[in-house]
Amino acid sequence: MTTVGGKNFLAIHGGKPTLQGDFRRYNHIGQEELAAVVKVVESGVLSRFLGEWHQDFYGGPKVQEFERSAAEYFGVEHAVTVNSWTSGLIAAVGAIGLAPGDEVIVSPWTMSASATAIVHWNGVPVFADVEEDTFCLDPASVEDRISSHTRAIMAVDIFGQSADVEALTEIAQRHGLRLIFDTAQSPGARVGKAFAGTFGDVGGYSLNYHKHIHTGEGGIAVTNDPELAERMRLIRNHAEAVVAGKGTANLTNMIGYNFRLGEIEAAIGIEQLRKLDGLVESRQRIAARLNSGLSALAGLTVPLVRDNYTHVYYNYAMRIDSEAVGVDKSRICQALTDEGVPSLSTTYMNLHLMPMFQKKIAFGSEGFPWSPYANGRSVDYSKGTCPTAERLQDQSYLGFGLCEYELSDDEVDGVIEAFHKVWLHMDELASS
Ligand SMILES: *Cc1c(COP(=O)(O)O)cnc(C)c1O
Repeated sequence: MTTVGGKNFLAIHGGKPTLQGDFRRYNHIGQEELAAVVKVVESGVLSRFLGEWHQDFYGGPKVQEFERSAAEYFGVEHAVTVNSWTSGLIAAVGAIGLAPGDEVIVSPWTMSASATAIVHWNGVPVFADVEEDTFCLDPASVEDRISSHTRAIMAVDIFGQSADVEALTEIAQRHGLRLIFDTAQSPGARVGKAFAGTFGDVGGYSLNYHKHIHTGEGGIAVTNDPELAERMRLIRNHAEAVVAGKGTANLTNMIGYNFRLGEIEAAIGIEQLRKLDGLVESRQRIAARLNSGLSALAGLTVPLVRDNYTHVYYNYAMRIDSEAVGVDKSRICQALTDEGVPSLSTTYMNLHLMPMFQKKIAFGSEGFPWSPYANGRSVDYSKGTCPTAERLQDQSYLGFGLCEYELSDDEVDGVIEAFHKVWLHMDELASS
């Protein structure tokens, strides 16, 4: 890839793009994973889960080894692997004993599964607003949305940094609420010395192919609570079918699922976990270079990292003050994209505005699980209920998909140069 001239015109106006050529996609699946997979295939054991009360109820050797190494890495008592983090979220929400009609306060600025995991148990998601500078749940808004029906908070460590762990933990404790962390995008991020995802009652990570580390599909739930860990293991493996044999007393939410991870994926996961530190460092290096190159641009805010927190940059989330800059963010995004900057996006999520919540249709078409449990209370998903998340979406958010490409220093410098070029020509962009 080479950086070419074209200082005189923006590419959007027919000039030469700053960056040319293809970026290398991250591929950290290598010889280590290949060797591990070959061994599993040679063993003939691709899975050893048995859906009945038996020593194989907890899975095969690689699944158990992966769980031991994940628990050790993240510094928790229990790691429970699952076949996706969506499954992990459903298992976690089930494990806390959510009952139909219970409300869970959740961020609207997240992937759909953070909220649908609640609906899967006939629970009602209540969206609280996010903090403008971190995109994570705003503790003040969480406190504001607590009702007599609230049972839990689902905090999301979005884009690579944890939500406000201290404030959310304090609120959860004061109100007697369960606290789940969806850390799908932030494995390896830290709060003090501890890892994001290890706070609250349960946390966990996605192993889907476009997350930091992956097994194709997969997930890991982490907890220090032995009862929650066991309930998640039960939900993972047809609880209903085994509880009689196991003698489980609490039958709440013991509905049978198959959320089991295979041995091949687990063997890959063991190798991937060994690479996490290095992958995190490479993203942090790119982000630091971007920070120093971009932070002087007027009207552009680079990602904030809280004191004592680390950021692992699943997404390099910027904000544009369109009024100060004088150009709409989508126009700026188009100009940058035309300069050759890959993987930019002006939108992420306002989950509360998705059709399922706007129409309140999930199970059947009669408003279940909202209507029968409303108890005179109507959960409001209308536009305006999460003004900061809406403003980020409509006006200021600009994300750079740092996780997708293995960018060299030259390429990062090219990205920075493209931003400077667009900023230099902002007047022309405004008038064209
Ligand atoms: C990816 C993701 C999930 C779901 O994980 P899967 O492993 O793809 O099911 C949940 N929450 C967030 C925030 C995510 O980014």
